[in-house]
Amino acid sequence: MFVTFHGVRGSTPCHGDDIARYGGNTSCVSVSAPGERPLLFDMGTGLRYFGLTQPAEEPFRGTCLVSHLHWDHVQGLPFFTPLQDDQSELVVYAPAQDNGRCAAEVLRDTICPPMFPIGLDGFPGTIDIREAPDRFAVGGYTVESAPVPHVGETVGYRVTHHGASVAYVSDHQQPAGGLLIDEKVWGLCQGVDLLIHDAQYTPAEFKRKRDWGHCTVEYAVFLASEVGAKRLALYHHDPTHDDEMIDCLTASAARCGSELGVEVFAAREGLTIDVSRG
Ligand SMILES: [Zn+2]
Ligand SMILES: [Zn+2]
Repeated sequence: MFVTFHGVRGSTPCHGDDIARYGGNTSCVSVSAPGERPLLFDMGTGLRYFGLTQPAEEPFRGTCLVSHLHWDHVQGLPFFTPLQDDQSELVVYAPAQDNGRCAAEVLRDTICPPMFPIGLDGFPGTIDIREAPDRFAVGGYTVESAPVPHVGETVGYRVTHHGASVAYVSDHQQPAGGLLIDEKVWGLCQGVDLLIHDAQYTPAEFKRKRDWGHCTVEYAVFLASEVGAKRLALYHHDPTHDDEMIDCLTASAARCGSELGVEVFAAREGLTIDVSRG
């Protein structure tokens, strides 16, 4: 199983020479394995670039696991060029909403005129939006979902394929008052081969934004070590963090991780990780 990062930025897409190495597109990660159709985590602006890698001569068939409906996680959907093919089909799993509306209704009411030239039904390809169950199969992948504390209805996912596993917890509110781990998040991440986790803030930033739905790099390392994750990808980088700052935060997180038995690295656009069990 291979995991490729197409967008690693949190909150809003950004651009500039100072962020060029890690990239400015928002949340999107693809999972691939021989014989399996494409599987994605989130459809931020990185989804557009993933779409450009897909063969134009055949219809796209794949599935996206969406963590929540904040803009930085859904904004790439209308720019996913495989949907220009009327034989293409994208299945989207998303969390149930707490306002009585399902994710499909919310996306249909958002991606439509006057905010976008056409509605979701106006794309030639099919977009099939479903509620994410606790456990389901996508081809040969086993997928589990569980609620993650954030702002608004949010889930994380764990994908297992031939014994190898990856957990995706992109936006995670650090608990107040100490180093606690939500029970459901723990279950999702326990013993995982690769954990892709929110790493938006420094401690000083978290102090100012303690209820904005995110966590510190230190909390991500703590969580990864407590749940026994083998590798941790620092993800959802703050748009104000330039390459140099991410290098710096990652170096200190990696030092701390190595003492705790976790290999820590920063997710960047274009990076592919082999998560196979061997
Ligand atoms: Zn986000
Ligand atoms: Zn969010």
